[in-house]
Amino acid sequence: MRRKIIAGNWKMNGSLDFMQDFMADFKKVAAEKALLDASNLQIILSPPSVFLHKMKLLVSESNIDIAAQNVSSYESGAYTGEVSSSMLLDTGCKWCLVGHSERRTLFSETDNEIVEKVEQLLKNNIQPILCVGETLKERENGQANTVVEHQVEAVFGYFDEQALSNLVVAYEPVWAIGTGKTASPEQAQEMHKNIRSRVAEHSSSLAESLSILYGGSVNASNAQSLFAQKDIDGGLVGGASLKVDEFSLICEQVINF
Ligand code: PEP
Repeated sequence: MRRKIIAGNWKMNGSLDFMQDFMADFKKVAAEKALLDASNLQIILSPPSVFLHKMKLLVSESNIDIAAQNVSSYESGAYTGEVSSSMLLDTGCKWCLVGHSERRTLFSETDNEIVEKVEQLLKNNIQPILCVGETLKERENGQANTVVEHQVEAVFGYFDEQALSNLVVAYEPVWAIGTGKTASPEQAQEMHKNIRSRVAEHSSSLAESLSILYGGSVNASNAQSLFAQKDIDGGLVGGASLKVDEFSLICEQVINF
């Protein structure tokens, strides 16, 4: 049975006060809804990296994990402003987003850098959440599958099966991120199935156990129809993860499938 995962990506939002209030409220609601007892649901929260250490303290005694939003492709040294994988491990991070579309487009991250980042994370046993997705133009030009397959292949073609056994993929169509537009459940299912088939070319058991999350304007109203799809194993949630009620409703809905 594949792991169900809901990961909240706070992007560059929040503050210490916000985080403290959020966690106090979320833990309360999560206990009421028994979200933290669900054996097949992993909840992950990803605040900005300066807050990771504090967040780790706030989630203690719960099975909520914390994730970083980015990692350096370098191990250590004169790379001003960078945060290494071992530093993330020190903060208690078990997960890290890699290749989010905002990093690919706004910070010109390439597939090669993404491979280097995954390599750094794997050295420290941090589980990468590899984000892939096409732009609107690419979809309209009929290139969505090719683009996503290329992004997937860059990583799955580089590492061996054992190295990738804890990696998670998040399919996030760029045109659906922060826009309020979601891929239809059928569109998302089709892409998730393609991703799984592509991975199966490397290893059928890896493909079968791989959790593939959908991201792109997931909210409490559309989560259920997305999570009902056979190849959708949870969500990577941006805006809605900053609202306790909305986020907990999303977590609740994945448990049903
Ligand atoms: C994201 O940032 O990964 C994301 C999916 O954002 P949103 O849910 O706001 O579209």
